Amino acid sequence: MSHTLNYIIRGFDEKIGQIVVEVTCVEHGDVQVFAVDLPIKEDNTYPVGEELDALIRSMTPTWHFDRMDKTSAGVANVAAIKSLVVPYPEPEVVVNEPLTQPE
Ligand SMILES: [Zn+2]
Repeated sequence: MSHTLNYIIRGFDEKIGQIVVEVTCVEHGDVQVFAVDLPIKEDNTYPVGEELDALIRSMTPTWHFDRMDKTSAGVANVAAIKSLVVPYPEPEVVVNEPLTQPE
């Protein structure tokens, strides 16, 4: 099945030079978010324009969208995996517990 993928850059962490990219499949509406550590070029710049576009497209997890075709159609032994899952315990919520200072 073919997927036409559009992306939007949703975040840029300047400290670590990382962008967050949201990719959407036009045909199916599936969304995937992933991070890219931008390469720093010899002239101490990040790639922009077509270069950045090519980088993002090369790093887009296209396999994810192919997988979702299969998972949304249903995998035969889903129940076998579900039966192995031991959920985390529910967090204990204490209401109106007075705050005490350590001695
Ligand atoms: Zn798709």
